[in-house]
Amino acid sequence: MPTSVVSSSVEIPPWTWPWWRPTAGQHMTFLWVVLIHATAAVGLVISPLPGWPLLLATAALTWLGGLGTTVCYHRTLAHRALRLHPVVREILIFFAMYNGSGAPLSWTANHRLHHAMADTPADISSPRVGGFWWAHLRWLWQAQQGSPTQYCPDLREASYRRWAALQVPLLALSFFGGLAFGLAGFFWLGAFRLVFALHGQCFVNSVSHLRPGAQVGEDSSQNVYWLAVWHCFQGENWHRNHHARPGSARFGWTARQVDIGWWVIVGLERLGLATEVRRPRVL
Ligand SMILES: [Zn+2]
Ligand SMILES: [Zn+2]
Repeated sequence: MPTSVVSSSVEIPPWTWPWWRPTAGQHMTFLWVVLIHATAAVGLVISPLPGWPLLLATAALTWLGGLGTTVCYHRTLAHRALRLHPVVREILIFFAMYNGSGAPLSWTANHRLHHAMADTPADISSPRVGGFWWAHLRWLWQAQQGSPTQYCPDLREASYRRWAALQVPLLALSFFGGLAFGLAGFFWLGAFRLVFALHGQCFVNSVSHLRPGAQVGEDSSQNVYWLAVWHCFQGENWHRNHHARPGSARFGWTARQVDIGWWVIVGLERLGLATEVRRPRVL
């Protein structure tokens, strides 16, 4: 059959689709991304400036959510670079999900797929094949998601499946919960925070894999200094370090490469709440 008349989404790479066309099973993700952006746009008009208490509460939730993603989802679950005490792990999963990072199994499956297939057409979010917007956002609703059965056979605890079942009510609470503090609370603790957190994570998939001069077949990851600010210096921006030694719990390797996620892990280790912490062998 000539390529021009093949209509199946299986044959046509999803990064060539129109951006508004989700793949099977990802319609809710697409609607969620549209919802938080549209609400944030309205919020810019209605409540562009919050008071200090609201700003601090928004920053605190963002910070805790970021920590949940980098320390728990990324370093602990996806790479097994440390073990967390179950109570700490569950608390961090809550804040990661409240921040819009998705459930632990789906995050881990997608991330392990990314590392396994990095810089190839099979990568779930490679800007090399799909360009910036594919890597930044579109893969969320247009890529075939990583299978937890295939990529996370080691994550067998029942709690991970329970968190997945709680995703919709948790996101509803995350989006609407700020209403308890008025309209400004609704926009700042909800849509503004969620949009900020979403793009912070998405920059890791997009700009952190747009290293100038990277050749085909070469590792495209790079450390992105300005992204440290967006990530509240929690360490995810040292992405080239991470691809070089994905099994290390430490992403920032020098004093100048601030990695608060690592400091938190060291603190938890001293308290006996983190064990089997894997450090980079050579700096
Ligand atoms: Zn990467
Ligand atoms: Zn990783």
